[in-house]
Amino acid sequence: MTDETPRQSDFIRESIAVDQESGIYGKRVHTRFPPEPNGYLHLGHAKSICLNFGIARDFGGRCNLRFDDTNPEKEEQEYVDSIIDSVRWLGFDFGPAPLYASDYFDFMYKAAEYLITAGHAYVDSQSADEMRENRGTLTSPGKNSPFRERSAEENLRLFREMRDGRHPDGSMVLRAKIDMASGNINLRDPAIYRIKHADHHRTGSTWCIYPMYTYAHPVEDAIEQITHSICTLEFEDQRPFYDWLLERLAEGGLFKRPLPRQIEFARLNLSHTILSKRKLIQLVQDGHVSGWDDPRMPTISGIRRRGYTPEAIKNFCERIGVAKRDSTVGLGLLEYCIREDLNRRAPRVMSVLRPLKVVITNYPEAEDEELDAINNPEDPSAGTRKVPFCRELYIEQEDFREDPPKQFFRLAPGREVRLRYAYFITCEKVIKDEKTGEVRELLCSYDPKTRGGDAPDGRKVKATLHWVSARHSQRAEVRLYDTLFTETNPGDRTGDFRDDINPKSLEVIKDCRIEPGLSAAAPSSRFQFERMGYFCVDADSTPEKPVFNRVVILKDTWAKVEKAQKK
Ligand code: ATP
Ligand code: MG
Repeated sequence: MTDETPRQSDFIRESIAVDQESGIYGKRVHTRFPPEPNGYLHLGHAKSICLNFGIARDFGGRCNLRFDDTNPEKEEQEYVDSIIDSVRWLGFDFGPAPLYASDYFDFMYKAAEYLITAGHAYVDSQSADEMRENRGTLTSPGKNSPFRERSAEENLRLFREMRDGRHPDGSMVLRAKIDMASGNINLRDPAIYRIKHADHHRTGSTWCIYPMYTYAHPVEDAIEQITHSICTLEFEDQRPFYDWLLERLAEGGLFKRPLPRQIEFARLNLSHTILSKRKLIQLVQDGHVSGWDDPRMPTISGIRRRGYTPEAIKNFCERIGVAKRDSTVGLGLLEYCIREDLNRRAPRVMSVLRPLKVVITNYPEAEDEELDAINNPEDPSAGTRKVPFCRELYIEQEDFREDPPKQFFRLAPGREVRLRYAYFITCEKVIKDEKTGEVRELLCSYDPKTRGGDAPDGRKVKATLHWVSARHSQRAEVRLYDTLFTETNPGDRTGDFRDDINPKSLEVIKDCRIEPGLSAAAPSSRFQFERMGYFCVDADSTPEKPVFNRVVILKDTWAKVEKAQKK
């Protein structure tokens, strides 16, 4: 976020301010961002990152990056690396190294033994089906397990046998002993440890039992002396267990008070987008996209490759704010944020996506000249550059109509228009392909007195077109993107989000013509192609074969499209 961005308050910050006032945590504020390394981060995570790190910044506190790596089966080092990279790229500082829940496995195990000894946990040998059956429903209470009254000694012996690999997966679990009749199903003796004979990406084969998320998470927070544990709304019903567990462990002297406090907020939902690692992984595995960093993906690495800036993403997160109720944010807001940022800083250049040749018949064949072009009208310090002009040019195909409709003011037979920074030209003749009838080139004349773009006699033209010199411009590939999904809420119609995949989300144009010199731009450089949008040099780009991604179009035609769809 830039320093001019006003920092809004929200219900979480207000609540933390109350804690500061009461002094419950002294003056400490310590948050954490706890991703599970089972996929790449997406824009929903960006919201959580901005919130957690932003709160630490605003209150002079700290924020940990902690990997919630308690599930050995779906987690991988590749994901750990990509998550670290994304958090750093967004510009947040989590200190010298991230933290790992797996580093706390010993503590978690000991805490579980304590719970057993204190009569707060037992080993249940019911089958998964029996457990499900006896859990009860939202309207009826559950039934106690026949193993619920095992003695502490027996429980301890069985739990150690579980740890020592003496029992197969699923044969028993350790459960908290709370209340099978509780109105909150999460308090009906939740499982806290399960047997899983699987290697972990960090602890290898040390363990064959792993803590359940609901048990591990509060323990991780308390170990790190987190003050405010901020999570999404679906964990609201888990809060009583979070508090129960930490209270019991504090009673046993395993933690000191004050204990961390869980606060829930509404997750980000984005129109025409999916924000769920499980579904994003499917898009990657089924080949609907080229990878996690495909520029159409809502992952941080995807939109980064597309050309989004960290500032635009942070600004977006700031603008959407934090609420207690779920809602869907329109994609238009995200696009607005990147447009606003790039408008300020992206240099302007002229590139022609779909070239149409123009021959200036009264311009000498062997000559050329250089014209001054402004690099960024929003930033006078960006200066000017020279663009070459000569007899043969390219303009955009869509800027010419042989038979122009009423509102079309660009080039047409007999009509005069301005070439940006150059001259007025008039279309004298249209040359067509004999067989197909397609327009192949335009023969035009120019008025040498209009050099720089104005007529000394004060005559006006209704359009200004961008253009490049045919001889000096370079060839480039340009990739245009549309939303990955055609529907606002993918999957709503049929129940399968894949039914709403947009078959036209990618259009590759191979023979664009870019302003001379642009092919040397480094990957991630961003430009405004005048009148065509903002573009970013793709990771695939080389000076010999430049590739540009369209980050976003210039005007918000999207809002119009959305409006039309609603009708
Ligand atoms: P997913 O549903 O994509 O798998 P997750 O919640 O399982 O996401 P985690 O790695 O556990 O993924 O998420 C790390 C943090 O990011 C959590 O605190 C979670 O609440 C938060 N988070 C995940 N998705 C969103 C979202 N859409 N909006 C806001 N915060 C989110
Ligand atoms: Mg999760």
